[in-house]
Amino acid sequence: MNKIDIKSLSKNELESKLKKLGEATYRARQIFKWLYKVGVASFYDMTDIPLNFRKILKNNFYIMHLVVVDSKHSSLDGTAKYLFKLKDGNTIESVFLPEPKRNTICLSSQVGCKYACSFCASAPFGFVRNLSTSEIIDQVIILKKEKFSSNITNLVFMGIGEPLDNYNNVIKAIRIFNDKDAVNIGARKITISTCGIIPGIKKLENEHLQIELSVSLHSAHNNVRSKLIPINKKYPLRDLIDACKEYIKNTNRIITFEYILIKDVNSSEGDALGLAKLLEKIKCKVNTISYNQISAKNYKAPSARDVKKFMQVLKREGINAVMRKSKGEDIDAGCGQLRIARL
Ligand code: SF4
Repeated sequence: MNKIDIKSLSKNELESKLKKLGEATYRARQIFKWLYKVGVASFYDMTDIPLNFRKILKNNFYIMHLVVVDSKHSSLDGTAKYLFKLKDGNTIESVFLPEPKRNTICLSSQVGCKYACSFCASAPFGFVRNLSTSEIIDQVIILKKEKFSSNITNLVFMGIGEPLDNYNNVIKAIRIFNDKDAVNIGARKITISTCGIIPGIKKLENEHLQIELSVSLHSAHNNVRSKLIPINKKYPLRDLIDACKEYIKNTNRIITFEYILIKDVNSSEGDALGLAKLLEKIKCKVNTISYNQISAKNYKAPSARDVKKFMQVLKREGINAVMRKSKGEDIDAGCGQLRIARL
């Protein structure tokens, strides 16, 4: 009999499996606590469950575990980066980002990525497969349990992969992260970041999840954006902005637009004006960050003076923009770089 990956089941799915095994459905809550709050590796460690039922669980399910194969720790700001090995030998990365008032984990959602954004360290080796729900969740369980006593307050899907391209597994993982019997992280503290997959944005509107949505923009001009994010040819800016407006209207949430500033590509005062024009009257925030030059790419970060001018134009035009600081600069903390080194 094929055993079931228990961490890939929602609470409802687990309840119905338990029912079929003749057990009370409240056991699902107990099992969730052992799996996600304690992070047990074996059903025999679930000590408040009768021994004979632990045996039944072992015969019907298995507990998936990622294996840490490498890690790097920043001496500058405490950022830590982990490379995990999956059961099939593939690898993925997660990053822990400590800040005074919150601790964030940046999660991967796929092995590789099919979207080939030209600035991205995850892109060069192409797409391999989607992560299962359990592989997404275990990134958090391992970092939470083994490496940090600090509370994990925020999760961002900004690691390897496009989360809206692995829609069902990502949404199921978010519901488990959000569950008070599991990881218990508020939906508003969970961010999905997309390169602009319009069908995914539309689908997300109907999930009634209070999560944050962040959209990678990186240019207000179609030709430049298409070079940076090739999927822009399929989902061009005008359609993307219309989908974002609809999302904001239908969910009553705001969207954060991400903008990586790259020298001589998208960081002039004219680019800032174009961005302000594109986003005028949209309920949104803009996060800008200078390109991380450690990556193995030809792009460069703009000068501090050019960044300042860019931000001044956005402010003058009434755009709510924040300049983010790169984290873990001493450990190549941009996602995908440990995996590349290994491959
Ligand atoms: S930026 Fe995101 S969508 Fe683009 S290639 Fe990298 S992982 Fe994929």
